[in-house]
Amino acid sequence: MRRPGAFASLARLQATAYQLFRGRCGAKGDSMAVLIRIADFHDDMIAWRRHLHANPELGFEETATSAFVCERLSEFGVDEVHEGIAKTGVVAVIRGRDGGRRVGLRCDMDALPLTEQTGLDYSSKVTGRMHACGHDGHVAMLLGAARSLAETRAFKGEVVLIFQPAEENLGGGQVMVREGLFERFPVDAVFGLHNWPGAAVGSFAICTGPIMAATDSFVVGVRGQGGHAALPHTTSDPLLAAAATVQALQAVVARSVPPREAAVVSVTRISGGDAYNVIPDAVELWGTVRTYTPEMRKLCRDRLEAICNGVAETHGCTAMVDYRRGYPPTVNSDVETDFAASVAADIVGESRVNRNATPSMGGEDFAYLLEQRPGAYILMGNGPGDGGRVLHSPFYDFNDEALPIGASYWVRLAERFLAS
Ligand SMILES: [Zn+2]
Ligand SMILES: [Zn+2]
Repeated sequence: MRRPGAFASLARLQATAYQLFRGRCGAKGDSMAVLIRIADFHDDMIAWRRHLHANPELGFEETATSAFVCERLSEFGVDEVHEGIAKTGVVAVIRGRDGGRRVGLRCDMDALPLTEQTGLDYSSKVTGRMHACGHDGHVAMLLGAARSLAETRAFKGEVVLIFQPAEENLGGGQVMVREGLFERFPVDAVFGLHNWPGAAVGSFAICTGPIMAATDSFVVGVRGQGGHAALPHTTSDPLLAAAATVQALQAVVARSVPPREAAVVSVTRISGGDAYNVIPDAVELWGTVRTYTPEMRKLCRDRLEAICNGVAETHGCTAMVDYRRGYPPTVNSDVETDFAASVAADIVGESRVNRNATPSMGGEDFAYLLEQRPGAYILMGNGPGDGGRVLHSPFYDFNDEALPIGASYWVRLAERFLAS
């Protein structure tokens, strides 16, 4: 089933043959085109992916993962392999014909601090470590693409493969940029991809402008004057102030953010107090703010600080707001988004590419790369998200049927971007 007998040529074929990929991925009677050579690698990509899945490493600790990537890249005969960028990051270069442009293809490599509960025979061997975001699949797809591109070299210019560490919270993309990623490898555009549970395998979704949010967080310390719970009039109750603050913060989105804009302010943790009959001195609130533009980011921060301070004061307390800027929004540039969508359509057909995807309020540190270079980040269907098979769940697993689709997308993207 992996390599069905139905072959066809596509009108836009340039350098490489495609294979119709029937049945398992799409609606009945539909077809999609993966590269024949990539389909040949499907079993290898599955083996790589499952090896990585069984051996997950957290951000900036991906030493075995990086070594595995470097070994494969060397086997494929890529022209350059650079290790140690952002500690465990790897960048490889594949050259085609002389001249031409440079394109960057980026994947992430890190796992999450979760204990896997899938029961799969290639489950994580490490308690408290799991590839629960599919970065194992992302690495396998980019390796598959590297192998094909290094074999065929049917392009003019250079493909720069970016194996980025520490996407989850630690900002490995930002560290790569700070360490001179684009000075050393001056690509004309850079592209990223993430699997998306809940969308069919063989579908893609993308939009111009922001596709992922800025992911700021905050810690608010509300300080009052504690005392006996039976004598509340002798206290300045920080719990009451904190509760009122949680309520009042809902007004940021409801009454300050313009209705056509999007933002999220969520309080996610309240802690304070030790006894049922003691009003504590202090309470702490944690939460997150998600926005798509610098204007909304500033507005939400300003309003949050004003509300925390004002509500605390109303209750005779004080608030200390520690506002922490996280990843910036991931903003797709127009030309590269159209291009990426048309590449996806080459592989899976126009009907399976949603060019007006609803942006996610999740975050993504590919944002730092897109701040430096034009480019686009695309979401690729990973199949049903039922049974807890969603990102960051202990029941999640990357869908191996998506491997040849993602790898074909990368190869096609590089060959078209570097066609002339
Ligand atoms: Zn994740
Ligand atoms: Zn991820």
